[in-house]
Amino acid sequence: MSSKEEKERSLNFIEEIIEADLASGKHDSILTRFPPEPNGYLHIGHAKSICLNFGLANKYGGGTNLRFDDTNPVTEDTEYVDSIKDDVKWLGFNWVNEFYASDYFDTLYEYAEKLINKGLAYVDETSSEEMAEQKGTPTEPGKRNKFCERSIEDNLRIFREMRDGKHPEGSMVLRAKIDMTSSNMLMRDPIIYRIKFAHHHRTGDKWCIYPMYDLAHGQSDSIEHITHSVCTLEFVPHRELYNWFIEKLEIFPSKQYEFARLNLGYTVMSKRKLKQLVEENYVSGWDDPRMPTISGLRRRGYTPKSIRDFCDRIGIAKRDNLIDVSLLEFFIRDHLNKISSRVMVVSDPLKVTITNIPEGHVENCEIDNNPEDEESGSRIVPFDRVIYIEKEDFMEDAPKKYFRLKPDGVVRLKGAYIIQCDEVIKDASGEVIELKCHYIENSKSGQDTSGVKCKGVIHWVSATHNVPVELRLYDRLFKEEDVNSYEGDFKDLINENSLQIVTAYAEPSLKDATLEDKFQFMRQGYYVLDKDSNEDKIIFNRTVGLRDSWKK
Ligand code: ATP
Ligand code: MG
Repeated sequence: MSSKEEKERSLNFIEEIIEADLASGKHDSILTRFPPEPNGYLHIGHAKSICLNFGLANKYGGGTNLRFDDTNPVTEDTEYVDSIKDDVKWLGFNWVNEFYASDYFDTLYEYAEKLINKGLAYVDETSSEEMAEQKGTPTEPGKRNKFCERSIEDNLRIFREMRDGKHPEGSMVLRAKIDMTSSNMLMRDPIIYRIKFAHHHRTGDKWCIYPMYDLAHGQSDSIEHITHSVCTLEFVPHRELYNWFIEKLEIFPSKQYEFARLNLGYTVMSKRKLKQLVEENYVSGWDDPRMPTISGLRRRGYTPKSIRDFCDRIGIAKRDNLIDVSLLEFFIRDHLNKISSRVMVVSDPLKVTITNIPEGHVENCEIDNNPEDEESGSRIVPFDRVIYIEKEDFMEDAPKKYFRLKPDGVVRLKGAYIIQCDEVIKDASGEVIELKCHYIENSKSGQDTSGVKCKGVIHWVSATHNVPVELRLYDRLFKEEDVNSYEGDFKDLINENSLQIVTAYAEPSLKDATLEDKFQFMRQGYYVLDKDSNEDKIIFNRTVGLRDSWKK
C-alpha cells in the first residue's frame, strides 16, 4: 500500500476507540493481548487476531502479551504451546510478556472466595440435568434452588473442601449469584469453578478445581492491566459478565471489544475440526500444506509478509463474512513475484535432439535469477545436445498464432539459443516422442546477431544434466466454498483430489535448494522445497500457480 493510500485509509472502529482513550487521558498507553488456548495449532484466523492485536500495539506505541489460556487441563499440551510461539514469531511479532492463565490460579481462587464473601457466589450440588432445567430458556426466566440460600460460612467451607479434593468430580460447582431472570442466559448464575481431577501441563496436580472461561479470561486481562481486550463476535454476550466480574471484584477495568472472525472459503477454521482431519489422517499433520494452519501455510511456501498484508487488507468487520481464498493467493503471488528465483523445471518431458551440437559438448548459459531484483545475481545452466521441453510446448497442427514450437517453426530456449524444428518422430501409436532440431548460430540470448525473428520463449532442461524432483500439487481441501453452512458432516465435503504428485526434471541448481528459498518454476508456478526431501528424493510443494486459475 502506498503511503498516500495509508493516510487516506480511515481508522477502524477499534483504532477510533483507542485514539479517543489516549486523547481523553483515560489511558497513557495501551496494552493488548493474544490469548490462544493451547489445544491445537494456530490457523489463518488466529493470524488475523495476532496482526490486529500486535498491530494496534505497534501503531500506538504499546505492547502485547502472549497469554496461554490454559484453564482446561484436559485438552492442553506443551507441543501446542511451542508451535504457537514459533508461529507468532514467524509472523514477525514479539510479545512483551509470556503469561499463562494458570499462573493466576491462586489469584483466581482468591477472587472466587471474595465473591463468596460478598454473597455473590455459592456452591451448588444440583445435578447438571436439573441445573439446565432450572436455567429456563431465552423466553422463560430461570429458577433458583435451595443451595442458593446457603450461608457465606458454609459456602466458604464447602468451596475449600472442593479445593482440597474432598468431593468427587461432578458432585458440585461454584456459581456466581447474578440474575436467574436475565435475558442474557450467561448471567443466569454461571458456573465459575468445577471439580476436575486432572493433571495440568503446568500446575501438575496442585489443583483439582479449575476456573471456567469467563472468570479466568476477563480476570487475567485485568490482572495484566490489559487496556483493550479484543476478541471475536461470539463473545458479545459475554461482555456483560466480563464487566460484572470486574465491577464486583473491584479490579483494573479492562474493556472488551469484538470484531468478526475470519472465515475463508474452501476450508474450515476450527481447531476441533482441524484436529479431526489430522487424527483421522485426511491430511499428513497439522503442517500439511493443504491446511489453513500457519505451519501449513509456511510449509506451502507462504511468507509472513503475504499473510500480514492479507490480514491488513481484509480489515476488521462487525459482521461475519466469508473471505475469498483468491485474495490470500493474490498476496502470496504478489510477494513471490518480487522475491523468488526463476528456474526451469520440465514436468511433462518431450525429448529434443539438437543435431548440430556435437555429442558430449556442454555449453554454459548464464541466466538471471530474478528480473524483478537486480541484486539477485545469475546462475549457470548447462545446455547440450539432448534436452527436454514440455510436451505442450510443441504442436503439430498449430494455429497461426501459436508461438511455441511447431514443424519448421522456431522458438527461443530461455537463456540459450533459438532452435528450429526439422523432424517429428512418432511411436507406433502416432504419439510424438522426439523432435530433431538445429540451433541457429549467433542467436544466444543477450548476444543475438542472427536476425531471426522469433516470438516464443520456452523453458527446457538438459536431458543429462538435470535432477529428477517430485512435485506436490495442491488443490482446495474442500469441494464447497462455504463449508461451515453445510448441515451434514463437514468431512463429506473433503476434496479427495487435493494432492497430485508428479515427477519432473529440474535444472541442476535446484540440488542446492534450501527450505528458505522461494522459486518460480518458469511458466508453471511458485514452489518451495518440502521438509520431507532427503538425499534420495527432492520434493517441491507448489505454493500457488502463476495466475488465478479459479476465476470463472
Ligand atoms: P477455534 O474455534 O479455532 O478453536 P478459538 O477461538 O477457540 O478458535 P483460541 O485459541 O481461543 O481459539 O483463540 C485465540 C484468539 O484468536 C482469540 O482471541 C480468538 O478470538 C481469536 N480467533 C480464533 N479464531 C479466529 C478467527 N477465525 N478469526 C479471528 N480471530 C480468531
Ligand atoms: Mg477457544
